[in-house]
Amino acid sequence: MSIFYCDACHTKFETGGVKTDWIDRTYGPCTRWTASCPDCGKECQLAKTIHAYGDGDDDFERGSCGSGCSSCGGC
Ligand SMILES: [Zn+2]
Repeated sequence: MSIFYCDACHTKFETGGVKTDWIDRTYGPCTRWTASCPDCGKECQLAKTIHAYGDGDDDFERGSCGSGCSSCGGC
């Protein structure tokens, strides 16, 4: 179980999620977890509960991949 954040509802929820792996041509192997929002059905990203970036909503969009991958949006 992981914590996900819905940008549409601005709410967090806990579920198993679906793991997506792909090879980014710039950043290499990337992994992203997604889940459907229980309220609106929108695809949601993992909430960044471990990394303390700050308070802005934009922080949820910031990818990682260990090198700041901008195309992942939350791996
Ligand atoms: Zn939602």
